[in-house]
Amino acid sequence: MAADYKAWFQCTSGCDERYELNQIIYSCRKCGGLLEVRHDMDELRKKKPAFWTELFDKRYMRTEWPYGSGVWGKKELVCPNVRNENIVSLYEGGSNLFWAKRFGEEIGLKDLWIKQCGNAHTGSFKDLGMTVLVSVVKQMISEGKGILGVACASTGDTSAALAAYCAASGIPAIVFLPKNKVSTSQLVQPLANNALTLSIDTDFDGCMKLVQEVCAKNNIYLANSMNSLRIEGQKTISMEITQQFDWEVPDVVVVPGGNLGNITAIGLGFLMMKELGIVNRFPRLVCAQAQRANPLYRSYLKGFKEYEPVKAQKTLASAIQIGDPVSIHRAIRILKTFNGVVEQATEDELANAAARADRSGLFNCPHTGVALAALIKLVKAGTIKPHEKIVVISTAHGLKFPEFKVGYHMGTLDGVESRYANRPVEVVADYETIKTSIFKAIERGCYDLQPSKNKDLP
Ligand SMILES: *Cc1c(COP(=O)(O)O)cnc(C)c1O
Ligand SMILES: [Zn+2]
Repeated sequence: MAADYKAWFQCTSGCDERYELNQIIYSCRKCGGLLEVRHDMDELRKKKPAFWTELFDKRYMRTEWPYGSGVWGKKELVCPNVRNENIVSLYEGGSNLFWAKRFGEEIGLKDLWIKQCGNAHTGSFKDLGMTVLVSVVKQMISEGKGILGVACASTGDTSAALAAYCAASGIPAIVFLPKNKVSTSQLVQPLANNALTLSIDTDFDGCMKLVQEVCAKNNIYLANSMNSLRIEGQKTISMEITQQFDWEVPDVVVVPGGNLGNITAIGLGFLMMKELGIVNRFPRLVCAQAQRANPLYRSYLKGFKEYEPVKAQKTLASAIQIGDPVSIHRAIRILKTFNGVVEQATEDELANAAARADRSGLFNCPHTGVALAALIKLVKAGTIKPHEKIVVISTAHGLKFPEFKVGYHMGTLDGVESRYANRPVEVVADYETIKTSIFKAIERGCYDLQPSKNKDLP
């Protein structure tokens, strides 16, 4: 039935020019503007909201290929143009959304939820968009378009996703990584998936310029988020959250932002659901930035009237170490529509927020730490109210960042005072010694058995 629906690229810079999704194009040929995927909403609106919610619920996390995927289960709203035989899916989406009761109470919230998007095939939410992009590429190749491979610049997660989806479909992948600026796990992922992995002596913004030039001059397809196909997949984050709440919209969604494709996508997902009558209100969106890479935050402070790129400084939140985000203007548009808030977090704040939440059973990557730190600040400031239903998007799995986790607990991170560090206790293999250390630890309250003993913790 997806064949009944249509989507296309459309210029968003005012000229409205349209292009087919299977064209190799990233910006408008007439005016150079950014392209966005647009759907035939009139056709989609012919169906009642209940038709969509029942269809999506019937498919959700089942085995009928490819609809059990959280992304392709909503194919009609994502990318109806791809034929099923060209879909490259690793069953993305369907990540758990859980009530972080204990951590929420600790920071003064009754209804805090974590959307664990990092529980994904490559360990980050980038899989959601990459399945769409690589599927469209596979379709183009099947139609005889001479694409030699797909390339991206990455701060580590996009390249891991690209490498995996390309490997799953036999398409060559080329990844441009800033040398020594991604974690060991993130470097190993494209290597393992046999991508050509270029380690370049520059930062992300430098890699971005190079990959754009390489793709513009050769038959290599560009997988960065100025390519709006990925946004269509990332958009399912807001749809899936709403579905997991039985089609109720939360009050606030918090997400860390770097290139700002995801904050844009989340907004677009809610907009589309509203247009179809699936939801009747919007949440407030919060974009959280690292203080060391905060061009959106700076613009927010000026009421979005001005925007200036910054030189991104080294931050533990390496996946959002971006000084000149590609999607800045669409993100600003979305934030204005969603009564948006931008907050920032220092290195000390993000690392301690991540570790503090880990103590209640989470296992956060540094970017989720940025989101949690921003949340804590906004609750303190009264911007977020205690009774509101909040969803924090956890964007990557903590296990992708072992240097961050180990460094924190060993107290070796620059600019971070590890207030929640927990070190291994070295003991001799002897009953009495072990018993003594266990009881000492319980007395100190390190196991949180008696929360009152933890009052010294900020
Ligand atoms: C990509 C990424 C982000 C930020 O998403 P943008 O669309 O670039 O703003 C945040 N966290 C992680 C782990 C990421 O990989
Ligand atoms: Zn145009």
